[in-house]
Amino acid sequence: MTGLKSMLVALGGNAILRHKERGTAEEQFQNIGETAKQMVGLIKDGYRIALTHGNGPQVGDILLKNEIAKATLPPMPLDVCGAESQGFIGYMLQQCIDVELKLAGFDIPTQTILTQTLVDKGDPAFEKPAKPIGPFYTAMEASKLREEKGWTVVNDSGRGYRRVVPSPRPIAMVEARAIKDLYDHGFIVIASGGGGIPVVSDKKGLLHGVEAVIDKDHSAAVFAKVIGAETLLILTDVERVALDYGRPNQQDISEMDVESAKRYMSDGHFAPGSMYPKVESAVQFVESGGKEAIITSIERCRDAAKGGAGTVIHG
Ligand code: ADP
Ligand code: MG
Repeated sequence: MTGLKSMLVALGGNAILRHKERGTAEEQFQNIGETAKQMVGLIKDGYRIALTHGNGPQVGDILLKNEIAKATLPPMPLDVCGAESQGFIGYMLQQCIDVELKLAGFDIPTQTILTQTLVDKGDPAFEKPAKPIGPFYTAMEASKLREEKGWTVVNDSGRGYRRVVPSPRPIAMVEARAIKDLYDHGFIVIASGGGGIPVVSDKKGLLHGVEAVIDKDHSAAVFAKVIGAETLLILTDVERVALDYGRPNQQDISEMDVESAKRYMSDGHFAPGSMYPKVESAVQFVESGGKEAIITSIERCRDAAKGGAGTVIHG
């Protein structure tokens, strides 16, 4: 495995489902098939990759199914729904990547690892749940859910009521050893899907799932360190990070050092919950010894890895 460059690729939502699609299995296989072509392209270019991915729309659908079926079947808690989504997205990725690998004449195994992400019970995020998840409810349903389940349910920008959960920081990947061993043995490892299933450790060191979600960009930085990646490649639906994004004076950035990235972050150039956590994770990765982080679109990922597209964040 010498001579190959190690890379952790974080796939955004559009790698699995595009805007306005309904979320049929066919649509998701189709998109993941396109993603798989790009991933095998990176392997052709000399990268040894591991993958992580988001799960927002998928876990949202699972929660809605649980809600609709609750009179017949017991609804599953959020951690179990997260595990379900990791399983089916991992399956689709494994199968599609395998097709592209075989077409390209590679004999490389791909393996999904169901991942739990350790978080701190004392994380301040637990005091103010802020991440909306799952279906919309009426005001009456909302107060019933607050009472019966103890959920935090808030008015989501006037569109209806929605459950919000905490989004704590990832501390470690529970399955880190298995992930590193498989990666070191040449596997394409898919892990930490949707940021991983958040778990806390009790006094005896035993793990318990919690009702929270972890930002997949934050967990990607942890994953990248676990495998000792040189590059963190964050793929989304824009080609470059921009200053004054969406304004007439928008300015796309092709590279920035950690210092300027931090300055742009505090100047409010990156929207919280979308671009901010990506830049934050890129900075964290580089500061903890990673060579570089790149933020770009799936379509441009191979060019970006060669330095001809995207936004590079370096020391
Ligand atoms: P993903 O599923 O890839 O995490 P997100 O929607 O969370 O996707 O983040 C990508 C989005 O971030 C872009 O589609 C863009 O609308 C938004 N965004 C916010 N601020 C910026 C910025 N400064 N530069 C580029 N994109 C930005
Ligand atoms: Mg996102």
